[in-house]
Amino acid sequence: MFRYSNAKSGRHFLQIPGPTNVPDRILRAIDRPTIDHRGPEFGVLGRACLDGMKKIFQTESHVVIYPASGTGAWEAALVNALSPGDTVLMYESGQFATLWKSMAVKLGFKPEFIAGDWRHAAVPEEIEARLKEDSGHAIKAVCVVHNETSTGCTARVAEVRRAIDRAGHPALLLVDTISSLGSIDYRHDEWGVDVTVGGSQKGLMLPPGLSFNAISAKALAAARNSRSLKSFWGWEEMIAANKTGYFPYTPATNLLYGLSEAIDMLVGEEGLPQVFARHQRHAEATRRAVRRWGEAGALEILCMDEREHSGALTAILLTQGHNADALRKVILENFDMSLGQGLGKVAGKVFRIGHLGDFNDLTLMGTLAGVEMGLAVAGIPHAKGGAQAAMDYLAECAAPPSLKAVA
Ligand SMILES: *Cc1c(COP(=O)(O)O)cnc(C)c1O
Repeated sequence: MFRYSNAKSGRHFLQIPGPTNVPDRILRAIDRPTIDHRGPEFGVLGRACLDGMKKIFQTESHVVIYPASGTGAWEAALVNALSPGDTVLMYESGQFATLWKSMAVKLGFKPEFIAGDWRHAAVPEEIEARLKEDSGHAIKAVCVVHNETSTGCTARVAEVRRAIDRAGHPALLLVDTISSLGSIDYRHDEWGVDVTVGGSQKGLMLPPGLSFNAISAKALAAARNSRSLKSFWGWEEMIAANKTGYFPYTPATNLLYGLSEAIDMLVGEEGLPQVFARHQRHAEATRRAVRRWGEAGALEILCMDEREHSGALTAILLTQGHNADALRKVILENFDMSLGQGLGKVAGKVFRIGHLGDFNDLTLMGTLAGVEMGLAVAGIPHAKGGAQAAMDYLAECAAPPSLKAVA
């Protein structure tokens, strides 16, 4: 019998829901000399990135780019839009919502946290009910995670907007799209979002290191009255310098080369509607695989509401006491594939398959084959044929031979 050795051949499968695999052409774009960020060429690159990001956020309003991970852009959203002591309404959709709430506490805001079960996204009706009680308008912002990366539940942001409007409440709407931007349809303007927070290393297929705020006119007006201390994160200096494509301090120039390439790929070549459809197809194929495996009773999709199933990742709950970290270890050691671990309250019980970014049908099939083999090696009861169910679905979705080719 041939045993696997520690020497790795072929490519590592990085199927965590971020950082995602960086396409070779983005790596090549980054691998260029760093230029003078105050020199004549830079402004063209800066404007291309800023204008391209507006298309990705589906906004006509301002977008700013920080040389920081997504956590930095979370902080920027809070300290620009709010003042110390402001009450913010947040929803416990999972680990990322919990971290954002903890940050709000550290920064001197007063979050009210609507308890969630980590199997649903933010519930618009619960937000509406709380806002209706707040007749004095103490709540200054509603913060929602669009794609909760710890659970694979995607919030219905347009419905959250309608809930705020039905309550007749003036609170700002702040949304985290760090793991959905460029993978799941998201419309900053149409959905009336005030601040959208994004990051580079998930749907945008870049290495970690860039993050974003998209900012409505209402949020910009609120920022003028904000009393929060800030310097690095300040929108005003950023927006002023960005007019000509420049930045108030040294930007992450090489990551911007990569960003410009990613925008070409997503907006210019594949097109956002096709990008979103591709992610939905891979998510549906993954769920078909999980449902098949789950017929033996030991695993299920964590997200309980079909309307909220994530296009970017699928979180899988192991029942009957099986350990998800042991399964991930078996898969990493035998098949050189990294899967997302269970975070926070679902640690050890959940593993997550990232199917976002630079990803195609056969990447998905390699991923699902690795999981199915891993279930067998780890001795976790499962019905065979999950990968087959996914293949059947992908084949159904594939284009039939064109008439011309047949003739
Ligand atoms: C990854 C992620 C974050 C954190 O971003 P960092 O780049 O790690 O700082 C926040 N929110 C969500 C939804 C995420 O997926």
